[in-house]
Amino acid sequence: MQRFVYVQTFGCQMNAYDTERILQVLEPLSYTPTDDPAQADLILLNSCTVRDRAEQKLMSYLGTFAPLKQHNPDLLIGVGGCVAQQEGEALLKKAKYLDLVFGPDNIPSLPALIDRVRSEGQRLSETVLHKKKDGYEFVAGKPLEDGKPVANVTVMKGCNKNCAFCIVPQVRGRELSKPADDVVAEVTRFVESGVREILLLGQNVNSYGHDRSDGVLFPQLLDRVAAVPGLDRLRFTTSHPWDCTDELIDRFATLEPLCEYFHLPVQSGSDRVLERMRRGYTAAEYIERADRIRAVVPGIYFSTDIIVGFPGETEADFEETLSLIDRVKYDFLFGFTYSPRPGTKAAQYEDDVPEPEKARRLQVVFELADRQRRARLATLQDQVVEVLVEGPSRASTALKPQMMGRTRTNVIVNFPVGSMALGQLRWVGQMAQVKVTRVSPHSVTGEVVQIEETTRPRPFLAGLGVSTAA
Ligand code: SF4
Repeated sequence: MQRFVYVQTFGCQMNAYDTERILQVLEPLSYTPTDDPAQADLILLNSCTVRDRAEQKLMSYLGTFAPLKQHNPDLLIGVGGCVAQQEGEALLKKAKYLDLVFGPDNIPSLPALIDRVRSEGQRLSETVLHKKKDGYEFVAGKPLEDGKPVANVTVMKGCNKNCAFCIVPQVRGRELSKPADDVVAEVTRFVESGVREILLLGQNVNSYGHDRSDGVLFPQLLDRVAAVPGLDRLRFTTSHPWDCTDELIDRFATLEPLCEYFHLPVQSGSDRVLERMRRGYTAAEYIERADRIRAVVPGIYFSTDIIVGFPGETEADFEETLSLIDRVKYDFLFGFTYSPRPGTKAAQYEDDVPEPEKARRLQVVFELADRQRRARLATLQDQVVEVLVEGPSRASTALKPQMMGRTRTNVIVNFPVGSMALGQLRWVGQMAQVKVTRVSPHSVTGEVVQIEETTRPRPFLAGLGVSTAA
């Protein structure tokens, strides 16, 4: 009997990966994904704790599905992800219409849990964190689901760091690395199906392999993945400065597919705040890492995360953050105002920076980052850049059709096409040489001067309605 499952994913790429795991374990139960909750027999929310008041927001969102149960008494509603891991059974008490709560490590048990809920009429919560490698099952991602020539490959889960503001270690557990052979096999499958760019994912990929005994740490994993024939581009995220070794940085000089883009979260430029955040490095040590990366890869694009208004952050601390941003110079910056996450060390601190002041500091950070980004993007004016074409641009309209892609340095490049005809859609997955004609605050626009002729397999074009038959 065919059933339908509606999964709503919140949060980061790890949650997106978990949604893939959910859909894969449900496949043998004949669950087909649907975009329409009213059609579903099973509604699952894959929750995230990163946002402020995550639980309240989840509960109010969840409430919108409750009336569907009146029309479909067989409908089951479940919550997975980080809020589920943190709250467990408490969620069942708060929402009477909720049938099921499961943590990220309990996704493999989902079919059995659903079966028990249906057959025994019980409401269940399972949020056991697996601490041993054997207790956790990685799954391979589905190739090219979204029709792009880029794919994510999760290489590890969990985090052994203990940052005071972060809930990840509590809700995702200790680090577990996917065996290198499995990572390479997954990348190979992707590349054979037409993918040209791979993003390796984990909470702190730099510490990959320390929980294993096969001697493959992150630099060696990069060696193996970069050697997959046909892989053009390789990226990774996220990195912790503490684990960003010379051995890793040196790979940028030797591994051709490794793209000239590095995301290295700093969070603050004040040693006092960094210590309270328990980040494990000083501002000077971070700057030394950034300088070393730039020495090995001149011209690399650099990005970071900043939190402003952390408990106890003074104006002088904030000025030090601005100095660090000014010194390192970022091409992209992701900024946040601090808000406490229940269960974290920082939640015990007094949240003493007033909200308007946090907002002001964030605004100042964004203005500085904007100036840096604009200055860097301006250097691309009239340059010819190589772009891996990903598909129609978000700004594309019937009157002004546009395609988009990225440079190796992760800059978004849009370029107009005569019409969104099948001929242009064939460009998806090709390398285009694009001359930049206009620089916008967050991207650039240009004209194609050359498009690669390739005979590479691009079966995903079928998903766009394009035949690749000769
Ligand atoms: S390294 Fe990242 S994921 Fe790990 S605790 Fe710190 S902020 Fe959280």
